[in-house]
Amino acid sequence: MRTNPHHRSVDPLTAVRNLGILAHVDAGKTTVTERILYLTGATHKRGEVHDGTTVTDFDPQERDRGITIFAAAVSCVWDGHRINLIDTPGHVDFSDEVARSLRVLDGAVAVFDAVAGVEPQSEAVWRQADHHGVPRIAFVNKLDRAGADLDAAVASIRERLHTVPLVVQMPIGREDGFTGVVDLLRMRALVWADRRDSFEEGPVPEALREEAGRRRRLLEEAVAELHPAALEEFCAESSVSAGTLAAALRELTLGGEGVVVLCGSAYRNRGIEPLLEAVTAYLPSPLDVPAVRGTLGDTVQERAADPAAPFAALVFKVNATATGRLTCLRVYSGTLLKGDAVLDMGVGRTERVGRILRVQADRHAETDRAVAGDIVAVVGLKSARAGTTLCAPAAPLVLEPPSAAEPVVSVA
Ligand code: GDP
Repeated sequence: MRTNPHHRSVDPLTAVRNLGILAHVDAGKTTVTERILYLTGATHKRGEVHDGTTVTDFDPQERDRGITIFAAAVSCVWDGHRINLIDTPGHVDFSDEVARSLRVLDGAVAVFDAVAGVEPQSEAVWRQADHHGVPRIAFVNKLDRAGADLDAAVASIRERLHTVPLVVQMPIGREDGFTGVVDLLRMRALVWADRRDSFEEGPVPEALREEAGRRRRLLEEAVAELHPAALEEFCAESSVSAGTLAAALRELTLGGEGVVVLCGSAYRNRGIEPLLEAVTAYLPSPLDVPAVRGTLGDTVQERAADPAAPFAALVFKVNATATGRLTCLRVYSGTLLKGDAVLDMGVGRTERVGRILRVQADRHAETDRAVAGDIVAVVGLKSARAGTTLCAPAAPLVLEPPSAAEPVVSVA
């Protein structure tokens, strides 16, 4: 049997993470994003927030600088996973834009300041993410700052966000002496040295063993309380393995029952690798989220994240740039090929897709196709607006991604 070229997937969908970074202004979203792009090699020089070289913190007036402004969605690769970072404004004034970004991402990292803990805007964005049913993990940033206190930040996550924090790391050292973390799953110490981009892994220092053991037991107890099946597995094992604990943490994250908490200092480049590991381990791929729902008149359809299904995508941002009009979209089902005709459900007109771009921080890579689960920008569409559905002309529908208020059961 001949394979249909439309159906070939560029990345296995299970290895895709459409990720948002949610934060109160100043908590460190830009710095975390920069460090991720640096570590994943998407950008070659390490941008610093203060010297104006950051690639995601674009100035809205720099409308002609194409790529920089399109950093609304940046793609990078980490450990065999494609991570698409979708920008979500940190300011509540842009809450429509926040809502639009939340619709197209599958999971998020909420960044908190280790001194301030949960701040009002973080609460607002957290509630929106709850509404859209976006699974989250938390990163308590700025542990190097004077007054940084992981436990106090964790307490504010519990009290103000009404969720169960599942703390998987313990800091090594305080404030200026913050050098690393104990990974409480594997019970290993990860220590960063200044002027090095990676950490050194070793046994938990003698002086920290008792404390690390106590925190590990707290984590196991919290997981067992939320997850009765995990409790059974814990009882069956003579000592709970990292794999069993990780599997339970993933289920709790996907079900929104608790939030995995990690910590570090983005500015000092500490804790970013474990954060990326947690993104790939706990947050969902496009296949793990419910099928998207679409309507046409009175009929309701579900579209699974299947490259072979009819094409359907949601536009979440449009930028006028020197490259042309860039339409950023999330493909929910089917495959889009360069040159394809798509139906714009906003204006009811069919248009042809010119180039398909994947943006990698400081450059863009042209690709010949985008499949279900992908986040890309296309050039050549004249009328599509944010919020518009694009679909195969033969299979029209208006997409309505599921929200927490209206759970949808996947029939994929
Ligand atoms: P955003 O507004 O959330 O995007 O925050 P930024 O990433 O722009 O960071 C706000 C400020 O906090 C900047 O001056 C950063 O240099 C600083 N910052 C970010 N991460 C850290 C950190 O881990 N430790 C310290 N001490 N400062 C940080």
